[in-house]
Amino acid sequence: MKRKRKIILIVLAAVIVIAGGVFGFVKLHKPTPLICLDAGHGGKDTGAVSPDGRLEKDDNLAMTLAVGKILEEKGYRVIYTRTEDVTVTLEERYTLSNKKHATVFVAIHRNSAENPDVSGMEAWIQNTSPRPDKKLAKNLLKQLDLVGFGNDRGVHAGYRGDITKNYAVNAHTKCKSCLLELGFMSSEADNERFDKYFDVYAEAVAKGIIQSL
Ligand SMILES: [Zn+2]
Repeated sequence: MKRKRKIILIVLAAVIVIAGGVFGFVKLHKPTPLICLDAGHGGKDTGAVSPDGRLEKDDNLAMTLAVGKILEEKGYRVIYTRTEDVTVTLEERYTLSNKKHATVFVAIHRNSAENPDVSGMEAWIQNTSPRPDKKLAKNLLKQLDLVGFGNDRGVHAGYRGDITKNYAVNAHTKCKSCLLELGFMSSEADNERFDKYFDVYAEAVAKGIIQSL
């Protein structure tokens, strides 16, 4: 009887030690987050064009690089679908993210409307989005709102003009993802705001991403 109890105690102790070891291993080897930033359009695809000839692809790239720089300076690992004015297919964008096993994917765009008075920010997630996507989108808009971006048009699911479809970068990325529209190229007020508070907005986007990791 005494011997049996001793064996049970030894087995118990062994289980605790092994469990502790496994826990510690998992904790230590938890992959560090990898952020994939996607500057919308590029190269021969200009994206939206403002009435005075400003190109969406340039704004997207500038903002993406600024957000990435902030994240890198904070020690986060960041990959980019483009870092210069080159044409990148949608497939290349989500394939990079999936291949590198990104933990979060954020596409940065600027919106456009026929009515020059339409302004504000919005975020798009896929229509079958699990909650993490929604949270990511909400965090981004919230941080931008906190620094005064204003005119929050909210989180939308699907594809602009057809909510039964999805943006390719949302549909095919394996990690949580969101497409951010930072104001309207067609709105003079939004363009002014974009330039004036560029650094503040970049900080806010970075903060929203970090919050969502
Ligand atoms: Zn765009």
